[in-house]
Amino acid sequence: MRKVYNFSAGPGMLPEEVMVTAKEEMLDWHGTGSSIMELGHRGLDFATIIKETEADLRELMNIPRNYKVLFVTGGATAQFAMVPMNLMSDKKRADYVVTGVWGKKAMEEAMRFGDIEMAAQSAHRNHLLAAPLQEEWDLRDGIDYIHYVANETIDGLEFNFVPNITEVPLVCDMSSMILSRPVDVSKYGLIYAGAQKNMGQAGITVVIIRDDLIKTPVFLTPTLYQYQTHAVHHSLYNTPPTYSWYMLGLVLKWVKRHGGIPAFYEINKRKAKKLYDTIDASHGFYECRIHPSSRSLMNVIFGLPTDELDDLFVSEAAKQGLTNLKGHRAVGGIRASIYNAMPEAGVDALVKFMQEFAAKYAKG
Ligand code: PMP
Repeated sequence: MRKVYNFSAGPGMLPEEVMVTAKEEMLDWHGTGSSIMELGHRGLDFATIIKETEADLRELMNIPRNYKVLFVTGGATAQFAMVPMNLMSDKKRADYVVTGVWGKKAMEEAMRFGDIEMAAQSAHRNHLLAAPLQEEWDLRDGIDYIHYVANETIDGLEFNFVPNITEVPLVCDMSSMILSRPVDVSKYGLIYAGAQKNMGQAGITVVIIRDDLIKTPVFLTPTLYQYQTHAVHHSLYNTPPTYSWYMLGLVLKWVKRHGGIPAFYEINKRKAKKLYDTIDASHGFYECRIHPSSRSLMNVIFGLPTDELDDLFVSEAAKQGLTNLKGHRAVGGIRASIYNAMPEAGVDALVKFMQEFAAKYAKG
């Protein structure tokens, strides 16, 4: 049994069951006498992992047959460049919806490759930040794709709807919410997500791409940055991060064993509600700047009345085994990341701590 509840935004907490399996298999994977780290990526043993990982992800997310699943490196940050390099070879224009730090970074990277406009940004509703409704998206004609970030990990803002866009490919960064709630993959042209939050450890990124979007990239796109390279070589063009791939496989099997995405969605809603209810019941001691319609299920962000209290909260919580609660330096405050692997008991412990902390430090 581990001693802390780790609220890190990523790399994040991994399921204990997965860690135990990884530990047991560390020196001898399935009777091979070798660690998975020591096995060649083109061998028959590793081929089992490749095959099962893709099959499990397809099953969990109900990925249609006309989509490829690619396993690549470079994190979601590499996708900020790969998306425009591969999808903007035609009209050289794309629109971005920006609701936080990551959406802005993705847009700025795309600007290096073509004509980029911001189609919408977070809206203010009752002095709180909310995801812009689809009616508020101002899309241009003649664009190659539209990009948005489903859950802004730093800002704690999540879309509670899937945009219904049929004219152009919808591209989505799902790094911090993949596997947390059901998603209709067929609504998207391309989905990408780094593994280190809800799917495993750092080093591997999943790209789910509709077949017709695998096309000739912009001139001089490096071979490794072309989706067609990874599609043709079944994600084995060069040496992949084999251990990260293996861990991703273990996490997917764990999600399947525990009821799949719908089961986690129910737990995730309950976990997030417990924290937001605690914030809302604190008479302003804890403050969340996100409108209830757009509050993230995965990254609960809030602040206390002063920076000193923020710091005290983080250090006192750590003493009770509630670790890594400090908010991102870009926004400050507190961030409780409660990915699938965070047990509900961890959230209950945090709620109890928040109530006790408020009782002690809120001015009467
Ligand atoms: N997009 C989102 C939504 C993220 O949360 C992150 C990482 N926190 C990134 C992109 C960048 O991912 P990476 O560091 O793996 O490149």
